[in-house]
Amino acid sequence: MKETKSKIRLYGDTTLRKRAKPVKTVTAAEKKIFEKMLETMREEGGIGLAAPQIGISKQLLVVEVGNEVFMIANPKITKMTGCDSLEEGCLSFPEVAIKIKRPKKISLTCLNENNCAIEIEADDIIARAIQHEMDHLKGKLIVDYASLADKIRLKKKLDVIKKKSKQGR
Ligand code: ZN
Repeated sequence: MKETKSKIRLYGDTTLRKRAKPVKTVTAAEKKIFEKMLETMREEGGIGLAAPQIGISKQLLVVEVGNEVFMIANPKITKMTGCDSLEEGCLSFPEVAIKIKRPKKISLTCLNENNCAIEIEADDIIARAIQHEMDHLKGKLIVDYASLADKIRLKKKLDVIKKKSKQGR
């Protein structure tokens, strides 16, 4: 039996602006959250999701690009190099894309789904997705990177999303 899918929190939801708490240990409960996040992300056609997006204020994120799946708890960037500017979308901002400059290559330490402390090196799209989801854990959103021109261009769309968020969709 499939569990009912959790709704993705949209821009305007207060959980998205909270600083997520680190987890002490990745237990069966966190593993279950990871699985739920992966399922929700796949259903929505995303490549990454952070726990606050399903209303859970914990430092957990998932990223899936091709057949590479990452389940990450308590991430900390230890090294970043390069720079790249690309348009990013977000499941909490349907139909919105904003150009964001980010380091191209990153190293980070974290706990994985088995509560092992690991180090991850990533570049390009995976590095970008991980950094995007890490922003969510700090309560930071793509709209915070918007230029004045972006803000004007996106105002209507953002207002609609906020309204939907208030109505709980
Ligand atoms: Zn996002």
